[in-house]
Amino acid sequence: MGFIDTHCHLNDESYEDVASIVEECRNQNIEKMICIGFDLPSSIRAVELANTYDIVYAAVGVHPDDADSYNDEVEKQLEALALNNKKVVAIGEIGLDYYWDKASHDTQKSVFAKQIELARRLNLPIIIHNRDAFMDTYEVLNEYAPLRGVMHCYSGSLEMAYNYMKQGLHISFAGPVTFKNAKTPKEVAKEIPLDRILVETDCPYLAPHPHRGKVNYPYFVNLVGKEVASLKGISEEELMEAESRNVRELFGI
Ligand SMILES: [Zn+2]
Repeated sequence: MGFIDTHCHLNDESYEDVASIVEECRNQNIEKMICIGFDLPSSIRAVELANTYDIVYAAVGVHPDDADSYNDEVEKQLEALALNNKKVVAIGEIGLDYYWDKASHDTQKSVFAKQIELARRLNLPIIIHNRDAFMDTYEVLNEYAPLRGVMHCYSGSLEMAYNYMKQGLHISFAGPVTFKNAKTPKEVAKEIPLDRILVETDCPYLAPHPHRGKVNYPYFVNLVGKEVASLKGISEEELMEAESRNVRELFGI
């Protein structure tokens, strides 16, 4: 039994030697990891990695920062990737990002909605990215609720977390929950029910304490899991068991 990194970017160009990272994940008892696409090429790469390594699974989708690259042809190719590869377990990451604001809000919302519809057709859960767009994200999702999916790298309030959970969603914690000044994520992790919790790294970004500011790796999910378990006052094994169950229910793996 080990933690599952439900959101990593092994497909990121900065990783040169993926084989040895996966090997280190095995050494550090990482049970599985889901490699997340953020545009079409990175989605194709995520599927390649999933088809190469038994403990790697894939999600395919277009991130809001790349919303301008989305069109019918891209959608067709994402759909084909999901239909032709058993290890594609979700559509993601999709959502809204008003911090970087790389595409207009209208475009971001429409690309988000189209990919929620794609996930529905494929009967797959969604992996949701949201930055500085809590209300709009909630409103887009509400048109499709109840949903299966996860709010990834959750950084919002406890109240919003309950609203997303009412929509059927899980809540995933990443490196920031380990930062000393991260009062809100710590509070949310402590309060929300165990059957909605996932952990992740979002590597290569957002390395947890004590690696903050450095390159992040999927096996650092152990540090995230350790912190969440301690916030909930349970053992790491209990959290691993709960996460495994949640991942099985949500992603079928
Ligand atoms: Zn990500």
